Amino acid sequence: MMDGQDEFDFIVVGAGSAGCVVAARLSEDPRHRVLLLEAGPEDRNPWIHLPVGYFRTMYSSLSWGFRTEPDPGIDGRSIVWPRGKVLGGSSSINGLVYIRGQAEDFDLWRQMGNPGWSFADVLPYFVKSEDQERGADGFHGKGGPLGVSDLRLQHPICEAFIAAAEAAGIPRNRDFNGATQEGAGYFQLTVRDGWRASTAREYLRPARRRANLEVRSSALASRVVLEGRRAVGVAYLAGGEERTVRARREVVLCGGAINSPQLLQLSGIGPGALLQDRGIATLVESPGVGECLQDHFQVRFVYRCPEPITFNDIARSPLRKLGVALEWLFRRSGPMTIGAGQVGVFCRTRPELATPDIQFHMFPVSMDRPGGTFHDYSGITSSICQLRPESRGWVRLRSPDPREHPAIMPNYLATRGDQETIVAGMRVARRIAAQEPMRRYIAEETIPGLAHESDDELLAVARRNGTTIFHPTSTCRMGPDGDALAVVDPALRVRGVEALRVADASVMPTVVSGNTNAACIMIGEKAADMVRAAAR
Ligand SMILES: Cc1cc2nc3c(=O)[nH]c(=O)nc-3n(C[C@H](O)[C@H](O)[C@H](O)COP(=O)(O)OP(=O)(O)OC[C@H]3O[C@@H](n4cnc5c(N)ncnc54)[C@H](O)[C@@H]3O)c2cc1C
Repeated sequence: MMDGQDEFDFIVVGAGSAGCVVAARLSEDPRHRVLLLEAGPEDRNPWIHLPVGYFRTMYSSLSWGFRTEPDPGIDGRSIVWPRGKVLGGSSSINGLVYIRGQAEDFDLWRQMGNPGWSFADVLPYFVKSEDQERGADGFHGKGGPLGVSDLRLQHPICEAFIAAAEAAGIPRNRDFNGATQEGAGYFQLTVRDGWRASTAREYLRPARRRANLEVRSSALASRVVLEGRRAVGVAYLAGGEERTVRARREVVLCGGAINSPQLLQLSGIGPGALLQDRGIATLVESPGVGECLQDHFQVRFVYRCPEPITFNDIARSPLRKLGVALEWLFRRSGPMTIGAGQVGVFCRTRPELATPDIQFHMFPVSMDRPGGTFHDYSGITSSICQLRPESRGWVRLRSPDPREHPAIMPNYLATRGDQETIVAGMRVARRIAAQEPMRRYIAEETIPGLAHESDDELLAVARRNGTTIFHPTSTCRMGPDGDALAVVDPALRVRGVEALRVADASVMPTVVSGNTNAACIMIGEKAADMVRAAAR
């Protein structure tokens, strides 16, 4: 039933990286009543807000805990894909690394037929979002909502790794989000004063003081309500019952790269044959919904360090752990403030490439899988991922039940080009590790081990050990008229439906060359601008 009272101008579904931005920006105009629906709880768990808590939350109940289908590209393995299910979405459980991507990524989006999305077009939104600790310049903003800061930790292995990359011919780079991404250096993090800067904290918390913004958490949107071909509201499950709210102007889906296509499919918008097979009437035939899935695939090298100076050693010593806790309490610095990597390297596996095609995340800590148990020896991890995979996967509804997770097929390493790039990247990892500055810190390559040497052996290692680095995108990708797989147009409007947009990682035409949170926040900023302009 549509209760006449339960009516808003805008309904935003999903309080994640993009959704919190959209809801906060739309509610800046007091004339607009805005509802934000979020399937997960309020972000009260203290581990969310401590940067190091990332290691604890990613496989907790604060994550959807999706599981992929058995994927032939990785020896038929099925792996867990964490996504945030809490206010802040994945920005509340991610590795905090602040990377925007390459200027060329956005210029490519524009070239693919998306006016308004070139680097020159999107840079102002990155700048607008940012509260950069180093201050403003041509690439950075000061005074925006999102805290971005330098690492609050110095470690000799980090410094040695950068020096080793330099010795391997990769220049030092002080700012991966400045004039060029290429090089080796320290990551900046979405951290403010030692606390995680999620979009829930940075955008939503201040916006919630406004009377015209309402947030309903633990509310799972089950479908978009359509009248003819116009979105007029959203049905959602909360407290064991289905409720419906009405949108006078627009519905904006910000459920992320897995849930937004699922929600469209549940609403009868998607590939007709799939919907029919799942018992859902097709209201709008849109073959691209759930297709074109991309992700960054990582392969991790682990080294045994002969000196007991890694975080593995700290984790084993109650006294050192106490010291770390005190350092955070009194100085808001040290290992408690780390994210998913301290040092980054962006480089090219072939000199003829125009821009880097692989990224490293390096940290002086090691475990068998991200978020797993620390190794019982002093360990260092150097993870590589391919920045622009050619392989494409999909997300498809399993059943009409909105509570059931959709089927996810990443299709990792499905093309020859992806296989060659990952192997070439693994060789770069070994080249850096072999340089003089790292020698005193590496006693042995424990994973995968130097016995794996030929291209075939390295590819076999990638297939056996490789995993997600948590960047799925492009399942509702934007594109121009005539692009059969484009789900939304360059204004992020769902093709074939009025008053319905998608704004999150799913609309990226191609995954950006780097971590995806900053680009999702940019998409949220730009989406809000477009929605407000349309409302005027
Ligand atoms: C473990 C992990 C580590 C990562 N590390 C980094 C990193 O270091 N740096 C970086 O840049 N990126 C990182 N990422 C990726 C980045 O965080 C994501 O790409 C980004 O947050 C996605 O934003 P989004 O708005 O598309 O979706 P999300 O932030 O995932 O938000 C979607 C929101 O919608 C809600 N939702 C979904 N369906 C429904 C529904 N039906 N009803 C109501 N609500 C719904 C979800 O619960 C969630 O809150 C990481 C991601 C993960 C999971």
